[in-house]
Amino acid sequence: MQSDRQTIFALSSGRPPAAIAVVRVCGPKAFVALEKLIGRVPRARQAALARVREPVSGEVIDEALALWFPGPHSETGEDMAELQVHGGHSVVAALLDALATIEGCRLAEPGEFTRRAFENGRLDLTEVEGLADLIAAETPAQRRHAFRQLKGLIGNRAEEWRRKIIEALALVEARIDFTDEADVPEDLVTPALRAAQQLRSMIGEALANSGRGERLREGLVVAIAGPPNAGKSTLLNRLARREAAIVSPIPGTTRDVIEVHLNLGDYPVTLLDTAGIRDSTDPVEQEGVRRALARAEEADLVLWVIDGSVTGGATGENPENHIKSEVWLLRNKLDLAVDKLCTSSESRSTRAFAISAATGAGMDTLISALTAYAGNYFAATESSIITRTRHRRALEETVGALDRALAQGTGGSEELIAEELRSAGTTLGRLTGRVDVEDILDVIFRDFCIGK
Ligand code: GDP
Repeated sequence: MQSDRQTIFALSSGRPPAAIAVVRVCGPKAFVALEKLIGRVPRARQAALARVREPVSGEVIDEALALWFPGPHSETGEDMAELQVHGGHSVVAALLDALATIEGCRLAEPGEFTRRAFENGRLDLTEVEGLADLIAAETPAQRRHAFRQLKGLIGNRAEEWRRKIIEALALVEARIDFTDEADVPEDLVTPALRAAQQLRSMIGEALANSGRGERLREGLVVAIAGPPNAGKSTLLNRLARREAAIVSPIPGTTRDVIEVHLNLGDYPVTLLDTAGIRDSTDPVEQEGVRRALARAEEADLVLWVIDGSVTGGATGENPENHIKSEVWLLRNKLDLAVDKLCTSSESRSTRAFAISAATGAGMDTLISALTAYAGNYFAATESSIITRTRHRRALEETVGALDRALAQGTGGSEELIAEELRSAGTTLGRLTGRVDVEDILDVIFRDFCIGK
């Protein structure tokens, strides 16, 4: 299968210029590529210092550390070569150009190395997702969780569950297919259903304990909302500046909602500035308001900012009218009117803070409260195995199929039980990206020695 595969190469390290650039080559021509570029192939998995030359002219491009990882025990499962060169623009460009001149070699597409690792069975789908999450991780909690997923936290569990389902299915199928055989025990359905029942509890438990695993990827969403000029943008800037770990704005951010990622007590928090929330007749602005509201509505927590320095200050629309999330009331501009801020009454259901986004007064209290909130919110999520809706859906479908199989009971239709078990196995197989009916046959013949 490898021979008709193209060999791919790419710069695997960050954007030049950098101290070092790592260029990887993967596929059947990786061996040839090393020979052409450095005149030899180093011993497997041992770094070698070598001159890298342009294959046709022989001109020296750079001196590199070269590594050779023969398949199938490489990261992608195919032959791989790695060259660590100096990370200058021209060095990298010359090396990539040189690779492109080698027949059968082309620049890799995004994610293509990982894609090959998946196709070659080196990573299952959940591990591929874990790898993507690890690269995207912005906080220690996200990093730890992604790493565990990359190492099979959910994939291995799902594979184990799927094997058990296949074993249960094999029992029922044997009952169906070989009813006349003398050496097939009469009651195979009871142990099959018992196994299904156990699995159902285990998967149900994993679903119940999954807490906010999915949120760990995107962060706790905190929306800053309130009437115009209350100081929302000032607050966002202060929070962002204060918690130095501001990270990339999410792609697709509209001009209506600004997103900032923070690291609060090691947990990821996405702050939304919905500065545009106000009544408007301009259709474009209305659309902005609509989006801002929609985003605020799906937030876990809303910080409703008002100008506390104005007597009887406008609180804007009552946030609880359209926001279902928890709302904290932030009376801003404490620096302008301390007395008024302290005397105003507040609704019992809302936590209130007096702050000055401009001077920073009251911010410590607010940040501690936010950090505690994030800690509570994420408590127990780190042990959760579910980090994506896809996982949750697959596990829910599996539980649904198991429930339908169990509903048949021992006196029920063997065909229907088999069908539901098969479908439970398929949904789990889809979770890890490995659906294979051959497995079922293997188990039948291994466990029953039918001998025909
Ligand atoms: P937004 O429309 O809610 O985003 O409000 P901005 O953040 O743009 O602030 C509106 C105005 O209030 C600006 O002139 C800010 O400098 C000012 N402002 C914001 N927070 C404070 C504060 O705590 N104290 C004082 N004195 N002014 C503030």
